[in-house]
Amino acid sequence: MKILVLNAGSSSLKYRFFDGMKAVAEGVVEHIGETRGPKDHAEALETAEKSLAKSGALDSFEELDGAGHRVVHGGERFVEPVVIDDEVVKAIHALIPLAPLHNPANLVGIETMRRKVPKLPQVAVFDTAFHQTMKKEAYLYAIPIEFYEKEGVRRYGFHGTSHFYVAKEAAKILGEDMDKTNLITLHLGNGASACAIENGKSVDTSMGFTPLQGLVMGTRSGDVDPEIPLWMAKKGLDADLILNKKSGLKGLCGENDMRLIEKRALCGDEAARDALNVFIHRIRHYVGAYYALLGRVDAIVFTGGIGENSALVRRLVCRSLENLGIAIDAQKNIDNECNIASSKASVPVFVIATNEELEIARQTKTVLEAHLSSSGVKSFKANNFKGEQYGNQSGS
Ligand code: ADP
Repeated sequence: MKILVLNAGSSSLKYRFFDGMKAVAEGVVEHIGETRGPKDHAEALETAEKSLAKSGALDSFEELDGAGHRVVHGGERFVEPVVIDDEVVKAIHALIPLAPLHNPANLVGIETMRRKVPKLPQVAVFDTAFHQTMKKEAYLYAIPIEFYEKEGVRRYGFHGTSHFYVAKEAAKILGEDMDKTNLITLHLGNGASACAIENGKSVDTSMGFTPLQGLVMGTRSGDVDPEIPLWMAKKGLDADLILNKKSGLKGLCGENDMRLIEKRALCGDEAARDALNVFIHRIRHYVGAYYALLGRVDAIVFTGGIGENSALVRRLVCRSLENLGIAIDAQKNIDNECNIASSKASVPVFVIATNEELEIARQTKTVLEAHLSSSGVKSFKANNFKGEQYGNQSGS
């Protein structure tokens, strides 16, 4: 199957082309809508198509069997990926109030691709879907219940595709069925989140109603006393901007690149050291909480740019946890081995590179194949479709 995975942001379009689940080509079109970039997403898609043709990966989008779109917010409605049709587009649209920055950009990507290749079957894969297995006690906030019932204010969690992907990889390494595996997965990148996985299902995660909650991130504060933004607002400050763009590692030390923060901290820079320590302290806080929640942890997984690459962060997160069966081997950690746990420890600690695009391609393929067999259509090739827009399956 030839699948194009698209991740549309407000001013960028990332794409990766898979042939038989092998990534063949990829690229990113940036500065969409700016004077130095393509005028809109349609032009950006043209650029992507030309670039794929130039690389010899495929001549045109007409050759595709499907497209998989990353969609940030699926609300409570989308618990799994779905074939996109008018009704699904409407539903993603209706979720914009929950994800005002992301869903509109994702929708532009979907709608532009639908216009460009009307007969191509397309699938939406949601960042929130994996966490829809959380129970009420994990997703309800203790605020008046009407906010949940009438407006959907609850914990949703994000990075679901990444947590799910690394969890499956971890289960594979353990030689266990995913549905028997308990894990704590730590996605540490510019955005960061932790997830508690019980028997293969997300039972808690650190991001909440929005991706602002939880761990300390590049520029996001993560958990704060909820009075703080109110206090900022009373002072006439833009709490939204401060907590999302000017906080986190950057807010604490002026820097959100962990490589530079580590360098500065090792040279004795106090602000960088504080930023690193706050970052680590918060992660340990969640590791402890999730350990208690799960009771039995089969492995801890580090992923994301920091999790995959920073031996220092991994060492600091795992220090003095021998009583929980967690200890890492200094050399294996420095060498970025897959299992960095020391031979004396009982809990494996994995370093697994995330691959959200591959996971989206896999889910797209699975959804399309299921749809193919249920609809009796022989092929998904865009050219084979005589009808109007493909697909009439609505989300579950
Ligand atoms: P995003 O959330 O934007 O996808 P990434 O997952 O790419 O971000 O992670 C970016 C973070 O990873 C940055 O803070 C960067 O400094 C950090 N990082 C990348 N390589 C290393 C490394 N070798 N050591 C420490 N941090 C690293």
